[in-house]
Amino acid sequence: METIVKTPLTPSDLDAINALAKTQLTEDQIYTFAVRLCDNEVDRDYERFPRASLEALAKLFVGKSGIFDHQWSAKGQAARLYKTEVVEEPGQTTGAGDSAWWLKGYAYMVRTEANRDLIAEIEGGIKKEISVGCAVNRSTCSICGSVAGSCGHRRGQVYDGQLCFFNLEEPADAYEWSFVAVPAQRKAGVVKALRQPQEDQTQFVQRAKARLELEKARF
Ligand SMILES: [Zn+2]
Repeated sequence: METIVKTPLTPSDLDAINALAKTQLTEDQIYTFAVRLCDNEVDRDYERFPRASLEALAKLFVGKSGIFDHQWSAKGQAARLYKTEVVEEPGQTTGAGDSAWWLKGYAYMVRTEANRDLIAEIEGGIKKEISVGCAVNRSTCSICGSVAGSCGHRRGQVYDGQLCFFNLEEPADAYEWSFVAVPAQRKAGVVKALRQPQEDQTQFVQRAKARLELEKARF
C-alpha cells in the first residue's frame, strides 16, 4: 500500500501553505507530497478509528509537523501538513464490515540545500512508513457500545460471528506524525491515548497512557 502519493500543487494549495508559513513562499521554494496518515481499519491492537473520528482527526492534523528519522530530525528537517482529507478506498471493506476510508495528509517542506537529499529519498520511495500520535476522549466496545473495558467483551474475540474491537471516538488532539525509516526497529502505525476523564481516572486510561509513553520511548 502506497503511503506517499505525488500530487500536483494548485493555487489554493499555495494559499494554504502561505497561511501557515512565516514568510511568503513561491511554488519553486517548496516541495509537496501526500501521506497516508491512518485509516478506519481494525488495527493490531483491535482498535480502530470510525469514519467520524477520521473526519475529526483531519481537522486536528492541519498545521502539524512531521519529523523524519533521527539523522534528519537532528538537522531540524521537518514537513508540515497544510491540508487533509478523508478518502474512500473504493471497493474495500474493513474488518468491521463497513467501507474503507483513510486520512490523507498533504505536506510541504521548504526546499533547501540541506534537505535536497531528504527530498530525493522521499521521491525515491525509501521512506514509506508513517506513524502518527493522537489522543481520543472515548473508546467503546464494538459489540455492545459500552465504554471499553466496562463490559465483559474482550477485544480480539469473536462473539456470535462478530469480532470485538474498540472504537476510538471523539479525537481530542493530534500530535506529530513521523516517517519511520527502519520499520524493524520501531512499530509503524498509530499511537493512541485516551484522555484522562474529568471525574475519575480508570485503570484502562492508565494502561493507555503507559502504552503511549512506551511508544514515545521508541522514537
Ligand atoms: Zn461490550
